[in-house]
Amino acid sequence: MSVPTVHHLDCAPMNPVGGAPLVAHCLLVETGGGLVLVDTGLGSADVADPRRLGTFFRRTMRPELNQAHTAYHQIRVLGYDPRDVQDIVVTHLDLDHAGGLADFPQARVHVMADEYRAAMRRETRLDAGRYVTAQWNHGPRWTVHDTADANWHGFAASRVLRFPDILMVPMPGHTRGHCAVAVQEPDRWLLHAGDAYFFHGEMDLRRPRCPRAMSMHQRLVAENHRERLTQLERLRELRRADPRLIRIFSAHDAREFSQLSTERFGRVM
Ligand SMILES: [Zn+2]
Repeated sequence: MSVPTVHHLDCAPMNPVGGAPLVAHCLLVETGGGLVLVDTGLGSADVADPRRLGTFFRRTMRPELNQAHTAYHQIRVLGYDPRDVQDIVVTHLDLDHAGGLADFPQARVHVMADEYRAAMRRETRLDAGRYVTAQWNHGPRWTVHDTADANWHGFAASRVLRFPDILMVPMPGHTRGHCAVAVQEPDRWLLHAGDAYFFHGEMDLRRPRCPRAMSMHQRLVAENHRERLTQLERLRELRRADPRLIRIFSAHDAREFSQLSTERFGRVM
């Protein structure tokens, strides 16, 4: 059985108006048989032509646009070949998560069926702004997951890989087909919660909290605000039950990112 090496990458540092800096937390998993990427942040083409991201995103989230932040570039710096990325698992297809897809045209792209449909149709005004079709006009090798074939700690889930175990855990609310992604490490699980929440304080078991501007932003961009809160409560329950064996983190929280990206060196594997 292969032991995965997991790298934590910030593939789109952002400096939102009126708020603390955010990251775009992506995972690069070395499986022994190839590389798996969880979320992609912004990609080379977004940096080359930021206009395609739209004015609203650029003016409110203020991403730092630099090729050095792309997953493609960081993978090369780590000494890997970007062509070895065989699978990409996306928590959802918002522009700050799907921007790097075109940098890995050979990869299978795993997405929940509801998310795929919403992104292809872009029926609502909200969807038309959040999904950028140019990010997938290269024709990715979509692998659409529409059934739950596994149970992960009481959550219905869809398995992507078995060694190491990687599963998609549907967690709708932020978008229609949003999911968390569970990755098994030798001694614990990582749960990339995507945009289920933005701020570490939201996962506080005693006194959940979130800065006002960030709270308003999340409400504004949620496809279903109530559903997001329901799922967030389930995440807190999970944390309460198993705080050491499951490490939950958001796609955008800078503190969680800095903890996880530095702890590797001190951890006993
Ligand atoms: Zn996001």
